[in-house]
Amino acid sequence: MFDRPTIMKFGGTSIEDADAFTRVARIVQMQQDTLLIVIVSAMSRVTDALLAGAQGAAEGDVYNAIKGVEEQLARHADIAAQQLKSTQEIHAFQEAIERARRELSDLFHTIAARLMPFPFLQDVVVSHGERLSAALLAGVLREHELPASYVDARRCIVTNDEHTRATPLAKETNQHTRKELLPLLEAAQIPVLGGFIAASRDGSTTTLGRGGSDYTAALIGAALDAREIQIWTDVAGVLTADPRVVPNARTVPRMSYREAAELAYFGAKVLHPKTIQPAVDSSIHVRICNSRAPEKAGTIVCAATEAAPHTVKAIAHKTGVVLVHITSTRRLGTHGFLHSLFEIFDRHKIVVDVVATSEVSVSLSVEDSRALPAVLKDVEALGTVTIDERQAIICIIGEGLRETPGVAARVFNSISDINIALISQGASSINLTFAIAESSAREAVMRLHEALFEQEDEATPANNRQAAHP
Ligand code: ADP
Ligand code: ASP
Ligand code: MG
Repeated sequence: MFDRPTIMKFGGTSIEDADAFTRVARIVQMQQDTLLIVIVSAMSRVTDALLAGAQGAAEGDVYNAIKGVEEQLARHADIAAQQLKSTQEIHAFQEAIERARRELSDLFHTIAARLMPFPFLQDVVVSHGERLSAALLAGVLREHELPASYVDARRCIVTNDEHTRATPLAKETNQHTRKELLPLLEAAQIPVLGGFIAASRDGSTTTLGRGGSDYTAALIGAALDAREIQIWTDVAGVLTADPRVVPNARTVPRMSYREAAELAYFGAKVLHPKTIQPAVDSSIHVRICNSRAPEKAGTIVCAATEAAPHTVKAIAHKTGVVLVHITSTRRLGTHGFLHSLFEIFDRHKIVVDVVATSEVSVSLSVEDSRALPAVLKDVEALGTVTIDERQAIICIIGEGLRETPGVAARVFNSISDINIALISQGASSINLTFAIAESSAREAVMRLHEALFEQEDEATPANNRQAAHP
C-alpha cells in the first residue's frame, strides 16, 4: 500500500495560453514529491465554441461550425508549438489534433443530417475540449520532466445515460478509476485526465453538466481516498462575494462542507454544486487555490467542526430566477396539497430552490424555467398562479447563523429600500436566503458586502479579523 494521492484540478482559465500551461507545470513540480493525479478542464472558451458548433450544425450551418472549431484547434496547435520540444511529443499531439478535426467534421455532418439524437452527439463533440487539453497538458508536463501519462477519463467515470448532465454511478466509477489509475500511481506516473467527460455503461460519451470538471476531481478523489482535492482556478480561493460584483471581496480561509455546498448551489461559480458530496462522503479536504498566485493560501473546505462557526462567511447570488406563487384558500391547509404541488415539479424535472408558505399561499423559486409553461398548466389545477420573472436569489452563508443574533437585522437594514419578494431561513441553520428583482441584485450584494464584511472590519481590531492567510 502507498500514500494517499493528491488530486489537482485546473480550470479552463488556468490553461488559457502558453504561459498559463507553464504556470501549471510549475505548480505540479512543486508537489511532485507526493502522489499526484491531474484533472484538467478544456481550455477557456473551447467548450462554448464546441457547443456553438454543435448547435450551428443542428441548424444546418456545418461550414461555420467547422470554422469556429478550427480557431480553437489553432489555439491548441499554437501552444503545442511553444511548449513541446521533442519531435515525438510534437508529432503525437499533431496527430491528436488531426484526429479531433476529422471526428468533429464527421460529427457536425451527422448532426446536420439528424441521423442520431442530438444530446448524444453533442456530448461527443464537447468531449474533444477536455480530450485535447488533457493530452496537451500531459505533453507539457513531460517537457518539464514530470512523468505524466494521459488517461481518457471516459475509462474511469461511469454514468447513467442522461446526456449533457449525466449522473455518475459510484460503484462502477470507483472500480474503473482504481483499475485505471492505481497501476500508474504504482509505476510513479502522474495520470492526467480531462474533467467533465465520462461514459455510460454501454460506452457512449456523456458529460457531467457545465463546470463539471470540479465534480470529476471529487469523484476521482473519493475513488482513490485522496489526501486532498485541490481546485486551481483564477481567483484566490472562495471569496466573500462574487468578485465580478464586489471587486474587493476577500478570501475565506476556512469553510465547512455545508457552507461550500450552499455557496456553490446558490450561484458561486468557483465550485460546481455537486463537487462537495463525494469529498464529504470520504472526509477529504478540498482546497481552492489561485493558479496565478500559487504561494497564497486560498480556501480550505473541511468538516464543520474545523471551521469557525457564528460568522457570515460569504454572500452568494444567482440571477435568472423565476418565482411562482400559488394561492388556494380552499386546498392549502388540506392534507396532501404540498405533495401534489411538488409532485408536479418533480414530474417535469424542475428543481425548486427556495420555498416559503403562508396559510393560503406557497411561493417557490426555480432557476430552469424552460419547462415552466407545462408545469404552470398542471399547477393551475391546484389554485391561482402568478409568476415573477427576472428575479435573483441572495444567500447569506455561515455555519451557526440561525443561532447568531442580529444578522437578519444587519442584512435587511442595509437593503431596506429594496423590495424583498420571498424570505427563507431555517431549513438549514447556515443560510439566510431571499429573493429580490434581478435589477437590484448587484446593488444589494455590494451593500451587503459592505455591511457584513467591510464595516465589520472597521469595528474590529485588526488582530481579531478573519486572517486572509492563516
Ligand atoms: P474554472 O475555469 O477554474 O473552473 P470558474 O470560472 O468556473 O473557474 O470559477 C471561477 C470564477 O468563479 C471566478 O473567476 C469568479 O468570477 C467566480 N465566482 C463567483 N462567486 C465567487 C466566489 N464567492 N468566490 C470566488 N469566485 C467566485
Ligand atoms: N469544460 C467544461 C465547461 O466549460 C467543464 C469545466 O470547465 O469544468 O463547462
Ligand atoms: Mg469551474
